[in-house]
This record gives sequence, structure tokens and C-alpha cells, in this order.
Amino acid sequence: MFSPLIVWNIRKLRKIPFLPFYEIKKEQERRLRDIMAYAYNHVPHYRRTLKSFGLKPENFKKIEDLRKLPIISKADIQKKPNDFISQSQSKDLFWVKTSGSTGQPTKILWSKNFLAASIGLGQRFRDAYASVLKSNRIPKKARISYLGSGSDTLDKYYRQEIWALKYTYYKNLKLFSIFDPPEKNYILLKEFNPQIIAGHGSYIGLLFTYMAQNKLDLPNLNVVTYSSDHLREETRRIIEERYCQVFAHYNAMETSTIGFECEAHRGSHLSIDTCAVELIGKDSLPVSPGEEGEIIVSNLINKGTVLLNYRLGDIGVMDEVDEDCDCDRNLPTLRSLIARSDDIIFLQDGTMLHPRLFWTIFKKWINQILQYKLIQEDFDKYTVFCLLSDEFKDQMDNIERGLIKDLKNVFGESDVKINFVNNLPRSKGGKIRTIESHISQHRF
Ligand SMILES: [Zn+2]
Repeated sequence: MFSPLIVWNIRKLRKIPFLPFYEIKKEQERRLRDIMAYAYNHVPHYRRTLKSFGLKPENFKKIEDLRKLPIISKADIQKKPNDFISQSQSKDLFWVKTSGSTGQPTKILWSKNFLAASIGLGQRFRDAYASVLKSNRIPKKARISYLGSGSDTLDKYYRQEIWALKYTYYKNLKLFSIFDPPEKNYILLKEFNPQIIAGHGSYIGLLFTYMAQNKLDLPNLNVVTYSSDHLREETRRIIEERYCQVFAHYNAMETSTIGFECEAHRGSHLSIDTCAVELIGKDSLPVSPGEEGEIIVSNLINKGTVLLNYRLGDIGVMDEVDEDCDCDRNLPTLRSLIARSDDIIFLQDGTMLHPRLFWTIFKKWINQILQYKLIQEDFDKYTVFCLLSDEFKDQMDNIERGLIKDLKNVFGESDVKINFVNNLPRSKGGKIRTIESHISQHRF
């Protein structure tokens, strides 16, 4: 069971976004000092690294000081998981698996404190979309995921540990399978009649395109939330125009909530007091707001698997505008999240093709192609899987010719094959990597 102190902390976490920015920073720095001292005393990787650099926990006062540490990645945890785990054995720890969208799943150890904080952080997001819910009662929420996913594992834990949640939040939460086709899930959803639908961006896109094309409704629906993989901008607009407001949730099993979209819809507010975020360029130096950078996170709470200066594999852009958000939260804003688990394609001459470039190409085919997956097999060999809208099935040849022409414009002379399929290849966790390269590793 959670102690009253932990419950008090959850309440405190909920209020932090509305504090003045300098107080949020103060809270961040307090957590940084705490986790650095802990990492130095109990976690082999940090103890070794600090010693080899002649550093002490006291040398880490501001978040910028984390740059003194090397950047770590998923591969480091997979190679030597025990290096990042606290050696002070506590029975309060809990294992959660990442979904392994880019290969092997990784196991992350969550400390009890982090498990509790994660509720408060999730509540920040729920508070943001609560304002558009039409009823004050506990809303019916449909989550499209699968049994055994990270979120499902956490749900089981919370249900058991916090009985109050069992009769409130969990009372009206229902799980739907991401591996069922949209037409099946629509029938089940219609019966459940949810106010909130939450799922991966790619599945939300598929479901709502199907619903919109067939003029289907869900009368009680107020909010759609999505996380993980990308939701196409055009699909998002369809949902907003025909159904309800859409809110993005930026989270990962390594960090819990990193950011969340507020009711002003200006991007994602970053919960920097608990998960510090830095955007770096190719030279590993920080980029300015408005510029693209790779996202490096530091989980300032978790004392299970301790991850500081950790490469998530995402690329983002911070908001340039230094003005207050209409929602009164003072957390900084990530304006866009560009390449979640997608690869960047490199041509033989070193030209970098950004996933966003492909968004614009496929945008032209938005009515015909519902979803796609592009694989770079070799420098001049590409395979594209397309899920075609029923209405355009008789125009397959034209679409194939047109799309090959558009793609060759960017790839140059190359072998491009289009496969029209009924289901796109998904990872074990149900995600779709839209752009996948079999030759280049992340060179960014
Ligand atoms: Zn806001």
C-alpha cells in the first residue's frame, strides 16, 4: 500500500505545472541533486563514470551539468542491465517491459516512488483534457492496446495496490485489442460508448479514417488521446472536425509521462521537474528553440533503473515563443515531435531524407492510401507497403505509377516496389514504424 506521504506527493505533482517557472526549476534541481547522490552511491555505471571523470554528485547543481555525463542508449541497458540498476536491493521495485518497437524489448525497473509519481504525472495529462469532458462523472475510457503491454502491466499493479483507483479510474476503463481490425473494434466501441479513446497514433488514425469514410459515430465521444507512434496531421484534422478534440501524450516506459498536450493545443508541455529534456544536434551540442534536435531525457525520479542523459530515439523542436500558454501552465513546450521510432533514410551520397519529407509525399495520396510503411532495403532498393482505401481499389495501377514517380523524384534512379496489403507489418507492441531503413543506423 502507498503511504500518506506518497499520496501527498501525488497531489503536489499535480500542482507543479502551475507554479512560476523559477519554482519549477528549483524543484527540478532539488530532484537532480537527490538522484545524482543516489546514482553515485548505488548505481555502478554512474559511480564508475563520475569517478573516472573526477566528479562528485556536488558537481551537478543545474540540469546543464548533466552534459558532463556520456549519453547512454537502449543498447547500453540491454548489454549491461545491472550497470544501471540500484545495488541497494529493495523489495519495493517492479519490472516493466518496453514494447520493443525497434527490436528487443528492454526491461526497466521502477521504484515505488516512481510508480507513485507516475500517477501524479498521468493526472497532469488527465487534468488537461478533463476540461472538455461533458460530464463530471468518472468517464468511460477505451484504451486500445493489448494484454501484457507496459501500460497493462502497470494497470494491474495499480489496481492491486491502490484500491481507491479500482473503484474510480479503473471502474470505467476497458481494454480493446490493437490487433483487431478497426471494423471489429468499432462495433465493440459502439457498444461500450466511451467518452475517451486512447491508443497509439497509427491505430487511432486507422480507426477514425474507417469511421469517417463509413460515416459512423460514437455519440458520447469527447476526447481522443494518442501516444507512441505518429498520427498523420490530416487524420488528426478529420477527428477534430467530425468527432472531438485530440490530445497527444508523450511518454515512454523509461520515463513515464515526458509531456502532454494541454487544452490550448500548442504542442506538449514537458514535465521537466521529473524528466529533464535536452535537444541536441549532430555535434551533440544543445540546439536553440525552433531548431530540430535529438531528444535526450533524464529521469529524475526513478531509483530502479536509473537513466540520466538517455537517448530516446526521438527528434523534436522546442517552442520558440517565450510567452505564457493560455492554460496557465508554466512548463516549457515541445512544439513538435518528429521522428518517433522512425528511421532517417540516407542516400549513398550522404543526403539525409527526413521522415517529414515522406509525410508530404504521402499527403498527396491521403484519400487513396490510408497507411503506409516504407522500407529502405539497400541504398537504391525500396519497398513500400500501402493500405488502400476501398473506394480506390480499382485505381491501383495509377496509384502505383504515380507513387513510384513521386518517390523516384527524391530517391533518384532506384528500384521502388509498391505492395498493396490488407494489414501493415506491426511490431510486437502493435506499433507501425512508417519509415524503416535496413542499412543505416541512427547517424543523427
Ligand atoms: Zn498550455
